[in-house]
Amino acid sequence: MDRLVIFDTTLRDGEQAAGAALNAQEKLEIARQLAKLGVDVIEAGFPIASQGDFEAVRLIAQQVRESSICALSHATPPAIDRAWESVKDAAHPRIHVFLSTSDIHLEHQLRKTREQVLNTAGEMVARARGYCSDIEFSPMDASRTDPAFLHQVIERVIGAGATTVNIPDTVGYAIPDEWGSVIEGIIRNVPNIRQAIISVHCHNDLGLAVANSLEAVRRGARQVECTINGIGERAGNAALEEIVMAIKTRPNRFDLATGVDTTQIYRTSRLVSELIGFTVQRNKAIVGANAFRHQSGIHQDGLLKSAITYEIMNPQSVGIPSSTLDMGKLSGRHAFNERLKELGYSLNEEELSRAFRAFKDLADKKKHITDKDIASLVAQEMRTLSETYHLECLHVSCGDHNPTATVQLRGPDGQIVADAAIGTGPVDAVYKAINRLVGVPNRLTEFSVESVTEGIDAIGEVLIRIESDGVTYTGRGAATDILVASARAYMNALNRMLATKKEAGRRQGG
Ligand code: MN
Repeated sequence: MDRLVIFDTTLRDGEQAAGAALNAQEKLEIARQLAKLGVDVIEAGFPIASQGDFEAVRLIAQQVRESSICALSHATPPAIDRAWESVKDAAHPRIHVFLSTSDIHLEHQLRKTREQVLNTAGEMVARARGYCSDIEFSPMDASRTDPAFLHQVIERVIGAGATTVNIPDTVGYAIPDEWGSVIEGIIRNVPNIRQAIISVHCHNDLGLAVANSLEAVRRGARQVECTINGIGERAGNAALEEIVMAIKTRPNRFDLATGVDTTQIYRTSRLVSELIGFTVQRNKAIVGANAFRHQSGIHQDGLLKSAITYEIMNPQSVGIPSSTLDMGKLSGRHAFNERLKELGYSLNEEELSRAFRAFKDLADKKKHITDKDIASLVAQEMRTLSETYHLECLHVSCGDHNPTATVQLRGPDGQIVADAAIGTGPVDAVYKAINRLVGVPNRLTEFSVESVTEGIDAIGEVLIRIESDGVTYTGRGAATDILVASARAYMNALNRMLATKKEAGRRQGG
């Protein structure tokens, strides 16, 4: 069976589009999970773009050893040198050089002739190849590039040492059959194409990113570039989970293997959604809340008789926790830990103690605790591990005038501080009281609340975005009380903002 290389660009194309800053530790956490998921290549960032990006790529290259770590680079000597500097410590480093090749970009953006582009592409790939043996080249805007010129460029860069040629549909313009023909055209017309792997990078502007990627694979591509939850520029990139599950579910159409452990898909999806702050739409394929939910009576009847009647894959295969009601007040620490292991968590003693305490608190308020509740409470506990300020207690009184909140926080040196404020509503009062204590100006730009399961005693999860000095930070909080969840979400966003500012401060200090 042929192998399909899974190239994940969640941390580059995905993060670039999110509009919310991730700090280096958060990027590392995502990279570790991507390695656990089994992706072959992690595109960790664009080192020339910023000092923060450079340092995050370097950290990931040093710490994540299982996957190849790739740095994106313009086709210029300083960008390539910087890219190499960031990935040189990786177990398997890759440099990814890109340059526009469409006449539209040549004329309006680069102001260069085809001859100049051809020479630059060859020279810059050769420069990168001087640093390492795994080199990818992307002719940007390939879907609008004259095929004859595209073939010339590909032949040149392979001659100069490119080992992967990635064909991007940068603007999301291609249609599956046409896109497949582009790949076939390359295979037919580029004499040295056997010396490189063909890759595709598809965007979802017309909702065709996954369809285009799969068609390219059917016609000979052996690497796909994709992101978790399909996040990315504009309408996003091809969704990793959809591509991988299509290949796994339809082996008769794709006789291909990937290195992905599909049971890690759901956790990866949750982690990316949590840190990047993009909620997954309910009806999203594979990882949406409704993806495995059957509503119609006739479907439910069939499923009860045999799952195969209406289920083409089962939720366990992508690691979705079952919603069986099996944990409660009387469950002990050992049973709780066993359940966590089954759900794929490996917590240390301290983390386990915190999670177990939170579980017992929840069991006092909620009779049946599902795996989704457990996932939510573990995430909440993990968020509080690296806090600068911690919410100790909250009291709110509200009604038709002067909603008032009293908050008590534990500060960076362990000191307890308290204050109170009146707001236009209870959440506003809570945030104003917290602001009086933390004292970092910011603006709330988004607030949403969702329940984890059904029922009046369900956990509420709050997602917020705040803006400070032109940078957006997201925060999440979970609790059975939505005002407590709101306060926790705000603390999470504030703590992330403080961590990012501290990291930037350290950098400026040298
Ligand atoms: Mn892209």
